Parts: sequence; structure tokens; C-alpha cells
Amino acid sequence: MIMIGPQGAGKGTQGARLAQRYDIPHIATGDLLRMAVRAGSPLGVEAKGYMDRGELVPDVLVLDMLRERLSQPDARAGFVLDGYPRNPSQAESLGKLLDEVGAGLDVVVSLEVADEILIERLSARRTCPACGRNYTQQGGEPTVCAADGTELDQRDDDKPDAIARRLAIFHEQTRPLIAFYERDGLVARVDGTGTIDEVEARITKELEARA
Ligand code: AMP
Repeated sequence: MIMIGPQGAGKGTQGARLAQRYDIPHIATGDLLRMAVRAGSPLGVEAKGYMDRGELVPDVLVLDMLRERLSQPDARAGFVLDGYPRNPSQAESLGKLLDEVGAGLDVVVSLEVADEILIERLSARRTCPACGRNYTQQGGEPTVCAADGTELDQRDDDKPDAIARRLAIFHEQTRPLIAFYERDGLVARVDGTGTIDEVEARITKELEARA
């Protein structure tokens, strides 16, 4: 299963819930890259500048990282892929990679939210630098991670310039993939506004209708 949607649409939150429900891993390329940055690995060192500016990390780096992750045993029974593919060339690479690891693609969930709402959500987003959990800061709260007590901070790419750049990249490069997967009848379009539970219920309904 693939989750496609702009930054702030709730892919990460919903992807994690789906993964838990179906007992398959949630594989988010943004999370894997942030882990590499935190670990200071060669990939992380190379990726960091692109990420801070809100640009895409070069395809070859992300593809190698994803190949390695999809080859792990827990991905054999399926996975929720979040944040990949993001452009037509990545969609092509993913097709080949899925053939390589013997996996198929059953559904592409497109989470749809208007830009104005995304900008509001992303500007209020705070992230735990230790574990990567996201929070929405309304009226200044919360300031520490509920899971580990670490002081929350704002991702460099959740600052206004980078938000604008990321949304532009989504519209130009990623959104055309919805039409690409629609040709194979794989796309479930889901309204991503409302509460987390409401969106989850919409996704579940779509998935059950396809089962
Ligand atoms: P995300 O958490 O999905 O918003 O990703 C954060 C950042 O990681 C993006 O702005 C990109 O710099 C980088 N990134 C994540 N996934 C990809 C990808 N599939 N291709 C290139 N860069 C990516």
C-alpha cells in the first residue's frame, strides 16, 4: 500500500495506524532519512542540506535506502509506504524494485487536503528530535514529547520558505502520480480534513470496499 499526499496531510499518522491494524511495517522515507541524519551516517550527511531546504534528496540515495529497507524480512507480508514515490522517475524505480523483491501494489491512498489548511497545520507542527513524533502546537502547548519528555522543536523544513517549496514540489512532481496509478485503478481518494479518527474511518471504508 502507498500513501500519497502533500506534507501535513496526515500520511505519517494514518500510515502508522494502518500499519498497526494490518500488522505490517510503516516505511516512511522521510523518517528513514531523518534517522540517517540523526545517526550522522554518510547518507544522512549528504541528505541533510536538501531536507533542510525542503528539496528532494537525489533519487539514487533514496532508492538505495528503500531497497535495503524493503529487503528486510518484516516487509515480506506487505508494508505501508509513505513519502515514496514523489516523482515519475521514483514511480518507475518503485515498479522495478517491487518486482525485484517480489511484492505487488494493491492500493494507493491519496490523502487530500487544501493548501491553506496544510500551511496552518505545518506551521503549528512541532517534532520530538529524539523519536520523531509529531505534535500540533495550539496556544503554545505541548512543549515536550509525551513519550520521552524531550523538548519539542520545529523541523527546519516546517519553516515558511521550506513549506512553500515542499508544497510546490508536491503539486508539480508528486500529484501527477495519482493519475498515473489511477490508470491501473489503484487509487482510493480520501478527504484528509477532520479529526484523525474521522480520516481513519474514511480510509478503512475505502479499503474495505476494495477488499
Ligand atoms: P517527509 O517527512 O515525507 O515530509 O520528508 C522530509 C524530507 O525528506 C523531504 O522534504 C525530502 O527532502 C526528503 N524525502 C523524503 N522522501 C523522499 C523521497 N521519496 N525522495 C526524495 N526526498 C525525500
